[in-house]
Amino acid sequence: MTALLQAEGVDKSFRNGDEETRVLKGVDLTMEPGEMIALLGPSGSGKSTFLSIAGLLLRPTAGTLSLGGERVDDLSSAARARLRNARLGFVFQFHPLLPDFTALENVAFPAAAPAGGLTRAMRERALELLVRVGLEDRVDFRADRLSGGQKQRVAIARALMNRPDLVIADEPTGNLDSEAAERVLDLMREVNADDGTGFLICTHDPGVAGRCDRRVTLKDGQLVGDERGAG
Ligand code: ADP
Repeated sequence: MTALLQAEGVDKSFRNGDEETRVLKGVDLTMEPGEMIALLGPSGSGKSTFLSIAGLLLRPTAGTLSLGGERVDDLSSAARARLRNARLGFVFQFHPLLPDFTALENVAFPAAAPAGGLTRAMRERALELLVRVGLEDRVDFRADRLSGGQKQRVAIARALMNRPDLVIADEPTGNLDSEAAERVLDLMREVNADDGTGFLICTHDPGVAGRCDRRVTLKDGQLVGDERGAG
């Protein structure tokens, strides 16, 4: 099977003046289509850096990254941006919904922005997603009038707008109470089961990690654990 995501020997160093910090040290990770992986590890171990590389937001210093069997680390910035928008979805802990936009406009944004406007088909897709995340009664609410859990469900709907193969989530429940967190996880599991969307989720929450198919652990920039099965 063609891997959904494959990192081979991924290294990342940051240079600040004379000092170079090697944050990722030869990370190998193969993610199968439809896998739901929790990325674990202590603070500073390189998780966010790895997510940024997997999300085509940063380039590795060395090593390669492939998406769906195609090498992507060496593509132009424009090609990477197109792939990011077409194939990936993003959910973050504190995240920037556009506060003055409605829930529906936020969800449709990844399709509407590149197209330069919101079409009827985009509206219908966004509406379908809002129904799916249980926010059919909040469609026309401005994002800044939603609760934290509702915002995160809008963010998930937005991440799904362009039917991504992979959703990259950085502490998606970090800012939620346990009930809202559970609901967000239920939703991700449901999307995973129904659509086969892969999820790569950085989390400190053992409840979230336990509901993933696989848990990989980073420590000091190296993968030190890889455990499969429900936790
Ligand atoms: P985690 O998400 O596991 O907490 P990060 O990937 O955010 O870890 O960071 C890993 C290490 O890389 C940290 O020591 C951090 O200070 C360093 N780091 C991250 N981004 C940069 C940067 N742009 N410049 C220099 N150092 C960075």
